[in-house]
Amino acid sequence: MTTSDVLIVGAGPTGLTMATLLIRMGARIRIVEKTPGPTEQTRAIVVHAKTLELFAKLHLADKAVEQGQSIDAFRLMNEDKQAGLISFRGESERTPYPFPLIYTQDRTEHLLIDSLAEAGGLVEWNTELLSLEQGLSGTRATLRHTDGREEIVEAGWIVGADGAHSFIRYALSLGFAGESYKQALFLADIDLQGNLKEKEVVGGFTRLGFFTFFPMPGARRFRVVASLPLQYSNQETLTHERALPCWARLPGWRCRPHSQSCWRAGHEYRDR
Ligand SMILES: Cc1cc2nc3c(=O)[nH]c(=O)nc-3n(C[C@H](O)[C@H](O)[C@H](O)COP(=O)(O)OP(=O)(O)OC[C@H]3O[C@@H](n4cnc5c(N)ncnc54)[C@H](O)[C@@H]3O)c2cc1C
Repeated sequence: MTTSDVLIVGAGPTGLTMATLLIRMGARIRIVEKTPGPTEQTRAIVVHAKTLELFAKLHLADKAVEQGQSIDAFRLMNEDKQAGLISFRGESERTPYPFPLIYTQDRTEHLLIDSLAEAGGLVEWNTELLSLEQGLSGTRATLRHTDGREEIVEAGWIVGADGAHSFIRYALSLGFAGESYKQALFLADIDLQGNLKEKEVVGGFTRLGFFTFFPMPGARRFRVVASLPLQYSNQETLTHERALPCWARLPGWRCRPHSQSCWRAGHEYRDR
């Protein structure tokens, strides 16, 4: 049996941030993650002011801003006509970071992993939480390592940073009330020729539904998030040939898909 002040389960952005903050405050922590390494997918691509303010406390904000791409404006379209422009240029009294920053999730995770390592912490990859018990004075967890060996850990606290399908949330019978919206959405990283600007997000509405294009690192690469036309909305997977007409919604835009996925957005909240 081993002991620790805090056992953090999950090395996504939440667990890594928690680990980095706690270790810098002097806590004895362990952070375990069942996958072999950090994600290689771009996943979430926008970081907002509050996250950058948190990064600043970890002395990471300057690096993120330097490596990322700040957004100057959000251009709102109605069909192919501009309906509005929200500018993020200039300063604000409310935050030193008054702009969205394009900073992909894989970069965020590497930034936090490096920061954790500098403070003497390491993620234990290939290590899965199998079970946990909660006692009066602490918790007891069973971990499985990559070679199949099981380890019992006693920790003052266990942090459940194990994602949307959290085992810890189920184990503690915590609710996750909410529902999926009926409208199906699709998301793709595409190379796009057209009149989009590198520092602008463009979004709007057409007869087919809504769409948003976010600039990404890489020449002419964009993340498109859009509603699926109704005829596709019951399909679990969508081939890019079928979705292509949805991507080229505005005249003069030609695109080549890089990666894509389809999902149904929802709104769900934990009990506590
Ligand atoms: C294509 C795509 C686009 C996205 N775009 C956005 C976006 O624009 N904005 C946004 O806010 N979000 C977006 N998301 C969602 C975003 O990825 C999540 O919000 C984010 O990953 C949540 O971070 P997390 O650390 O809470 O959980 P996760 O990143 O899910 O990390 C949880 C970790 O826990 C590990 N784990 C689970 N169970 C165990 C266990 N028993 N033992 C050990 N480890 C365990 C998992 O392997 C995982 O690595 C997107 C996701 C995808 C896939």
